[in-house]
Amino acid sequence: MLEITTIDENGVYAVKNCKKGTEYLVTIEPDTCPCIAYRYYGDCKHIQAVKDIVREDKHMKIAIERTEDLMVLD
Ligand SMILES: [Zn+2]
Repeated sequence: MLEITTIDENGVYAVKNCKKGTEYLVTIEPDTCPCIAYRYYGDCKHIQAVKDIVREDKHMKIAIERTEDLMVLD
């Protein structure tokens, strides 16, 4: 279970692994993570977790905008 905190709206997130007690500062676009997996593979679960959250957040914003449009049309 990863806990994600937004540090900066421009794409900086703190990803905390509660089970292991580790925390990484992840940046997306361009993607960077200080963990070992990222250093070896250029990708890691921390970045994936952040991207999932960001994608959901964008979907929510689109949904809200659409709802507002409908309200205006009504
Ligand atoms: Zn990582």
